[in-house]
Formats: sequence, structure tokens, C-alpha cells
Amino acid sequence: THKKIIVSACLAGCCCKYSGGDNLCEAVVELVRQGRAIPVCPEQLGGLPTPRPCCEIRKNGEAVEVWNDRDENVTEYFARGAQEAFRIASLAGCTAAVLKERSPSCGAGVIYDGTFQHIHVPGDGLFAALCRENGLAIFTESDLEENGEPCSK
Ligand code: SF4
Repeated sequence: THKKIIVSACLAGCCCKYSGGDNLCEAVVELVRQGRAIPVCPEQLGGLPTPRPCCEIRKNGEAVEVWNDRDENVTEYFARGAQEAFRIASLAGCTAAVLKERSPSCGAGVIYDGTFQHIHVPGDGLFAALCRENGLAIFTESDLEENGEPCSK
């Protein structure tokens, strides 16, 4: 039997990204069509509007904070959204995740540095971090596009 997979809703074609658009990835849509994947958007689940200002993670000592490009601290929304999205993943018994690259919620392994200058740094978004801490196998849309199948690993 296949693993159940939690996926970033924007990859499944939902118009939940900060700009109001999507990040459609046909391989992710196919997983949802087959009943194997569940789309969630942590930022919407955290109570943020769509569209919304662009946000990036800033490390403040040990603390991970999220700020938008209007210089407002939105960490609380991101933390709540990550928890709610993870609640759905747990309820559904997901053991893998396919997550949108570089997002402050979904980004896995690489994120932006908090300066809004398109600079990449190592790190996880808040939802990706929660998935990783709880042992889910993490993939990105590039992994799917390159390998086709997130569950063979
Ligand atoms: Fe996509 Fe995740 Fe951003 Fe929502 S929070 S728009 S699912 S990358």
C-alpha cells in the first residue's frame, strides 16, 4: 500500500499563495486525484488573508521569527498555521510530505534569508520543520518532477 502524503495546496493548483496565484505541479495534482495526497495551506490555516504581503523567516538568536515586507512580525500566524496543517497530516496518517520550495511555511532545506533580496539560506519553513521533527519523509516539487514518485525512497 502507498504512503499517505500531505502536500502544499498551491502545488495542487489552489490559489493560496501570497500573490493570490498557485504553484501548479501536475505530479502533485495527480497524487491528489489518486486519493493519495491531501492539500493544505498552512498560511491560510493560520488565519492569514490571500493575497497577503510577502513574508520571510528571520533568525533572532535561537528564535525563528517570520516578518512581512511591511516590517510586521507575523510569527504567531505562521506558528498556528504550521500546527493546524500538521494536525491534518496527523489525523490523516500522512507519512510523507511534498512541500513548496523556499516558502517560509513549506520550504524544506532552503529558505530566503529575511532580507527580501531573494537570497537563499539553509533552513526549513515552520510547517516543513514540524513535519521533519515528526519523522515524515520530505520531498519538494523538484523531487517529484525529477523522479516522478515521492514514495519509492
Ligand atoms: Fe503554498 Fe505552503 Fe505558501 Fe500555502 S503556505 S501558499 S501551501 S507554499
